[in-house]
Amino acid sequence: MRKKIVAGNWKMNKTAAEAFVLATEVAQLVKSEVPADVQVIMATPALYLTGVSQVVEGIDNLAVAAQNCHEKASGAYTGEISAVQLASAAIPYVLIGHSERREYFAESNEQLAAKVDAALANGITPIFCCGESLQLREGGEFLAYVADQLTASLFHLSAEEFAKVVIAYEPIWAIGTGLTASAGQAQEMHAHLRVHIAAKYGASVADDCSILYGGSCNAKNAQEIFAGPDVDGGLIGGASLIAADFITIAKSF
Ligand code: PEP
Repeated sequence: MRKKIVAGNWKMNKTAAEAFVLATEVAQLVKSEVPADVQVIMATPALYLTGVSQVVEGIDNLAVAAQNCHEKASGAYTGEISAVQLASAAIPYVLIGHSERREYFAESNEQLAAKVDAALANGITPIFCCGESLQLREGGEFLAYVADQLTASLFHLSAEEFAKVVIAYEPIWAIGTGLTASAGQAQEMHAHLRVHIAAKYGASVADDCSILYGGSCNAKNAQEIFAGPDVDGGLIGGASLIAADFITIAKSF
């Protein structure tokens, strides 16, 4: 059985005080309202990871995630944080390949493959983000394009390694725009990716792989999107910054 997951991507938002308030509100609501079989994750700015880790301690279905990691273990990479360092601070998840990292920091498929390797080597679960631009969607080749992103950055993994990866499908045209993919569009891509994974790793690995949807998912539309049989939850940007909305999404299965 694959896991249901709702992960919030705070991006570069919240002051330290605001982050503590949001994390505390989310923690209280997860404890009182979210079913135990839904894993809730908060991907906070790196600065707050250890503080928020203390807030979530002892809540089995609530965890923190980093928003990025460097592929090297250590060295002269000013401003970067390695998977070794994240593991040393007991951070269990890391987002890899968010479209904002791909676009603004020119992260390539090859570099993302190395980041995935670094995360797995340090016992951290990568949440691997993929998705097409509006141009690719309108051009019609979006299904193959996103499948190719998986091939390029993940398909060097063994089946045992791949089984530890979470996928987040995030059409770029839907991120932060208010334009959500329809439930049908999300399901179509998720089903396509599951078939693609099955062709490489077999049906059982594909069946067990959690594939999340991200892109203007909110408290109003989450239920319809999560109803897709291949949609196992969401990666949530803007709506994860308001605890009540985020928790409504986590209860939308
Ligand atoms: C994201 O950035 O991962 C995201 C899904 O953002 P939003 O929900 O704001 O579209």
